[in-house]
Amino acid sequence: MNLTNSTAEIYVPDGTGADKALARTTHMGIGAHSDDVEIMAMDGILKCFGQKTEWFTSVCATDGAGSPRDGIYASYSDSDMRKVRKAEQKKAAVLGEYGAAVLLDYPSAMVKDPSSPGLASDIREICKAARPSVVYTHNPADKHDTHVAVMIRVVHALQDLAADIQPQKVYGVEVWRDLDWMPDADKVVFDVSAHENLSNALISVHDSQICGGKRYDLAAAGRRRDGVRSCGQADSQSHRGEAFARAGPGHRQDYGGGLSSACRNAQVSGPRFFGMPHV
Ligand SMILES: [Zn+2]
Repeated sequence: MNLTNSTAEIYVPDGTGADKALARTTHMGIGAHSDDVEIMAMDGILKCFGQKTEWFTSVCATDGAGSPRDGIYASYSDSDMRKVRKAEQKKAAVLGEYGAAVLLDYPSAMVKDPSSPGLASDIREICKAARPSVVYTHNPADKHDTHVAVMIRVVHALQDLAADIQPQKVYGVEVWRDLDWMPDADKVVFDVSAHENLSNALISVHDSQICGGKRYDLAAAGRRRDGVRSCGQADSQSHRGEAFARAGPGHRQDYGGGLSSACRNAQVSGPRFFGMPHV
């Protein structure tokens, strides 16, 4: 596969060839930064972990060069940080038994540049090769502009796919904040209570993100517990934890208002799915 950046990598923990590894993908997480997928796509990681026919592929857009750094990393150069972040993403892929981890290695500024077509093109090629049934990415109202930029590229890439290979479900995930502004029928709360040890480990390997006091590992565990409590409710009134914003006024009438209905109907059909304009 030809990816835009010559420094991009497709890392396959079990040594399977890259094409074959991607082709077995069932679930895919596409995030801006090297710990995003472990934070927002735990549902997919857990669904594939230890399974013979389900495989998770992570895609990381940015190169990690501009990351904040502290503690033992305080004196690291941008180039050093890039290596650290890549290594951490690979460690997560090993721990989580991912089918593949794709490291696209874009500077953050390029991800946000609407005139740069590379990222959307790469995501489209990866999705053509992997044909994931389920895709997790950032949500359109995410606080972080690089997250939103990645989400837009994902939507553009999926829109370009032939209808028969589009994912069955695309989730725009919110972790840190609530989606209390969304109609309940448009939300899905994931139950990510299984293998809590694994989810904790997957976030903890991103030591450079945590070092210096930003305890994403503890914070994410707390948010997961919030979500788990919500999942215990019998209806879709809950709105904590990992949830999905499935927007698009044209589709709302499809919803019966129940959580299972929202899950079943969460099919992507391009940017209008998110209610986001082209940029
Ligand atoms: Zn991020």
